[in-house]
Amino acid sequence: MRKDDGAATTSAELRAHNLARLLRAVHDGGGRLTRAELTRQLCLARGTATVLVRDLAGRQLIEELTSPADAPDGVKVQRTRGRPTGVPSAHPRGPVALAVDLRDDSFTLAAFELTGRSTVLDRQERDVGSGTGVLADVAARLKIRRRQFGDRVVGIGVAVPSPLSGGQMVQPTLSDWQGVDVAGVLGAADPGPVLTGNDATLAGLAEARRGVLRGVSVALHLHVATGIGGVLLTEGLPVTGAHGSAGEFGHMPLTGGDEPCRCGSVGCWELDAGARGLLRAAGLPERGDRMVRAEQVIAAAGTDPGCGRALARVAEALGRGIGALVNAQDPEAVGLSGLAAGMYEAAPAEVRAGYLATLMRFRRSDPPALLPSTLGGLGALTGASELVFDAFLTPRGLGAWPAAARKTA
Ligand SMILES: [Zn+2]
Repeated sequence: MRKDDGAATTSAELRAHNLARLLRAVHDGGGRLTRAELTRQLCLARGTATVLVRDLAGRQLIEELTSPADAPDGVKVQRTRGRPTGVPSAHPRGPVALAVDLRDDSFTLAAFELTGRSTVLDRQERDVGSGTGVLADVAARLKIRRRQFGDRVVGIGVAVPSPLSGGQMVQPTLSDWQGVDVAGVLGAADPGPVLTGNDATLAGLAEARRGVLRGVSVALHLHVATGIGGVLLTEGLPVTGAHGSAGEFGHMPLTGGDEPCRCGSVGCWELDAGARGLLRAAGLPERGDRMVRAEQVIAAAGTDPGCGRALARVAEALGRGIGALVNAQDPEAVGLSGLAAGMYEAAPAEVRAGYLATLMRFRRSDPPALLPSTLGGLGALTGASELVFDAFLTPRGLGAWPAAARKTA
């Protein structure tokens, strides 16, 4: 009896492992791979793959279509009847990750399906002032959306605008966020798992999974906003440090100033190459929405000589810092998001001049490519959703999926 139980457990474990692998492959492939392609990729026997696909479909985790769900308009999408050319895609009642991009003056909430397709559900601005007020608003929206999606919600991912150490915000822009554990605060109001990550780290994770750094074995990603954050990724996984606060590249003295920074250090790179650096170079006050105003400086650079000079100076400082980081990290490619993408597109020669000036000579013949993000404003949200799916797409995560209970409902 006991022996049989043991054998059954092992076989069940193997099956759970393969189900998670297959579902992970559907997720990573964005719902574009046919069953035959997935079978080859995972080295499964054809019969095994058929059984696994049927199992996942029965549990409402996937449904097989005759062509990818995001096929161009006019291409008719039909359900298949078990052909290997079927494309396992997100089930209409399948798992959903809710993702929040938290800012000090606003937040965005989106839903992500298994294959990465997203819908922005809420975008709320508010006057800068109360950080706890923003979190209360986020909790209220999450409650409404959780009711809407019900047991399809497999977790909540939150991109946080502060370095995190042990899950706590250690350098937020709002004073009442100091030391706050966002996952703890939102988790108290919500039964599902709440996972948090630094917004720049998650922007890099998103590029590695769905953007310009996909398939890059060692990648550096830089996100420029008011400050500069980023992440080093190896094989698509962020290197986040012992406490989760690595990647604070903006707080390195890469451009050689000696001005004190709000972080407690001096001569930080972000003072020269972030939004504040751009506003100061343009002779503009640093008040108000610095990101919006910095974007205006970039947009006006072609017609306003003052803005043009400011952009050139800051773009060169951006490039110099990138060269120094490439010397240190030896990445295959460098992703750029936020203002960095806009600065590179508006002033590529200046960024490259700074980059090549600080790059060690032996690297200059074949410098790592600079790749502006194509995810736009969805980067941090996409990264937050990946945190949720990373936790869900495991035998344990799938074990908690409730579709079996509602199948008969
Ligand atoms: Zn600093």
